[in-house]
Amino acid sequence: MKTKDLIADLAKRSERPDFTPTRAAGLARLATFAGRAGELYDRCRNYDLSAEQRTNVSALSPWIRHRLITEAEVLDAILGIHTFQAAERFVHEIFWRTYFKGWLEQHPGVWPDYQVGLRRQIKSVSKDRRLAANYAQAMAGQTGIDCFDVWADELVRTGYLHNHARMWFASIWIFTLRLPWELGADFFLRHLMDGDPASNTLAWRWVAGIQTKGRPYIAGAANISKFTNRKFCPVHQLATKVDPKIDPVDHLRWPIPDATQAKDIQSDFLLLVTEDDMQVADVLSHPPIATIGALATEGRSPNPLGEIAQHFAATAMYNACGDHPIISHGSWSDDIIRACARHQIKTVVTGYAPVGPVATALKNARSDLTAAGIRVLLVRRDFDAVAWPHATKGFFAMKKAVPQILEILNFKL
Ligand SMILES: Cc1cc2nc3c(=O)[nH]c(=O)nc-3n(C[C@H](O)[C@H](O)[C@H](O)COP(=O)(O)OP(=O)(O)OC[C@H]3O[C@@H](n4cnc5c(N)ncnc54)[C@H](O)[C@@H]3O)c2cc1C
Repeated sequence: MKTKDLIADLAKRSERPDFTPTRAAGLARLATFAGRAGELYDRCRNYDLSAEQRTNVSALSPWIRHRLITEAEVLDAILGIHTFQAAERFVHEIFWRTYFKGWLEQHPGVWPDYQVGLRRQIKSVSKDRRLAANYAQAMAGQTGIDCFDVWADELVRTGYLHNHARMWFASIWIFTLRLPWELGADFFLRHLMDGDPASNTLAWRWVAGIQTKGRPYIAGAANISKFTNRKFCPVHQLATKVDPKIDPVDHLRWPIPDATQAKDIQSDFLLLVTEDDMQVADVLSHPPIATIGALATEGRSPNPLGEIAQHFAATAMYNACGDHPIISHGSWSDDIIRACARHQIKTVVTGYAPVGPVATALKNARSDLTAAGIRVLLVRRDFDAVAWPHATKGFFAMKKAVPQILEILNFKL
């Protein structure tokens, strides 16, 4: 069947993913989608048919981002049904997340620099009435550019956008509406259920022409028309000639910090479950004496998080932790020290948190914990340990290494 006919057929169906924040719902979505991860995904993934029609993409990102289901589990399911060649495109997309995390881990200054830039832009908004009005209009979906306004509304209302819509939206935000990219990245990070420091910050930098220097992504009316199945066609409304944004700082590459291997944990410990890895208990060889859930969602932005994104993370944590206590305020150390004292433990184990709010919260708690004689062990999953070192340059090097990475990790190829 021609792709055109396939898309026309898909457009007649409807499939709204059930974004319930539980592992069971993530596994159910994976089971629904797995059979389509081959040819259908390869040919149709770029089409954004509507929020009511997500047959052609997995919509797994909210669960993967919080590791309610892991990249390894998704790859296992997909490669159990398809050959590597048949599902290559989908497998590579999974590795984009890994690439961004690994790259940010080796260029950690990009995240705090983004946060400083964001605070500066928020200050500018408070002083510039025109900028404030344009910014408010963009977030409210009142720009007069139909597609952009629909996506702004969809983002706030559903907490999810198709990848192509994210690219178009970011490009229009930066180059047509001429709004600071940091404010757009923040708008996404506050509202996406999959809001992620690495994927989001680096994708916005890529659209702006900072991540791949001097090569911005320019959204075009014909491309939007084709890949929305002619729902939108913003002819003469979008900027066509643009100046890429510039990052004055040349971020140096740092070594990936050390971490603990699960097999080396011998003593009794308190398990700290965070929003970066809600299934961390699965990699440990013996159970914890006690467990605490810890949320750092407030570190995603100086502005309040959107209801949908906040609800996804908080409810997912609640479901992952069962009857165990959950802490969610700025400083974690008092609660952790109290819990360790109650259970007479001197070791805290948690999943290795990549650069972002969880890593910052852990870093902030560390000196208090050390002073109280408590050590913190960060457990890195084999998947990250094997793949991250390949995220040094562009994605191409990672892509080339994917078969080798999968082989080391014992995936069926
Ligand atoms: C401006 C912009 C901002 C973004 N912000 C985020 C974000 O905050 N959090 C986030 O998880 N993703 C982000 N992405 C990446 C991507 O858009 C989403 O991961 C993807 O759309 C999720 O939908 P899906 O699960 O249906 O993807 P599918 O197409 O089904 O892909 C399968 C999985 O592969 C991974 N993946 C696919 N594309 C990408 C990509 N380009 N980058 C990283 N991982 C990818 C995701 O884990 C996804 O669940 C952003 C992209 C852009 C252009």
